[in-house]
Amino acid sequence: MVDYHLHTPLCHHALGSPSEYLEIARQKGLCEIGFADHYPLGLLGIKPQSEVSMSPDELAGYIREIRALGANEKEIKVKLGVEVDYVPGKKKKLAQLLARDPFDFVIGSIHFMEDWDFTHPLYTSRYETDSLLEIYRCYFNLLWQACASGLFDIIGHVDVIKKFDYRLPESVMESYWRQTARVLKENGLCFELNTSGKAAPVCEFYPGRRLLELCFQEGVPVTLGSDAHGPEQVGRYFDDAIRLLKEIGYRELAVFSKRQRSFLPLE
Ligand code: ZN
Ligand code: FE
Ligand code: FE
Ligand code: ZN
Repeated sequence: MVDYHLHTPLCHHALGSPSEYLEIARQKGLCEIGFADHYPLGLLGIKPQSEVSMSPDELAGYIREIRALGANEKEIKVKLGVEVDYVPGKKKKLAQLLARDPFDFVIGSIHFMEDWDFTHPLYTSRYETDSLLEIYRCYFNLLWQACASGLFDIIGHVDVIKKFDYRLPESVMESYWRQTARVLKENGLCFELNTSGKAAPVCEFYPGRRLLELCFQEGVPVTLGSDAHGPEQVGRYFDDAIRLLKEIGYRELAVFSKRQRSFLPLE
């Protein structure tokens, strides 16, 4: 089993050293892990409400540390990834930046609508004051732009807009889900089953079952990530996640080396 979404303390909201994450992965019997810490927003000229990514001068050290961890590890494959915010208008800049470093995979995620950090527990009041229909429309438009950008290998927590359990009726969501599965497919992307949503107010994986089913029907490859922000979260809820993926029909998980995709059997 693989866990392709691990953070490190460099992002200012995670705990534990990468070697501690590796140790838990060993205890849980994982065969491959991927670190995907938050790529420096500073390199894109963005200063968020709260510091949520590594700083530009920490990137080289992050890469060195993860590669050294992998080089010294015999049993578990350790992949070097990053979780990158899709920022409209910064596509060219991001493409240049991402080409500089030897990443195995790049996760594209949406955490911001303009300057609103909508996944941050400190800034949830806007879900009450703004139109939820408008918030969802804006989120999914950004998501689809991210998919079409060609910048990413994996799209992270595709329906994270539900995190704080502000939700629209299924009847409204169906067309968002269909379009999302289609756009993932059209752009040759992989998505992740991100188990961290289970511990969020919404108490459900990202994405939920219906979107997973549609992704499977479209033939969109899946990988698996805990989004661990502490060593004890590595591989969290994976028994449930694997059962769900199999129930839906998935038989393999995508893995990446030097941004090339291959597959491992889901077992
Ligand atoms: Zn984070
Ligand atoms: Fe994220
Ligand atoms: Fe993450
Ligand atoms: Zn995340």
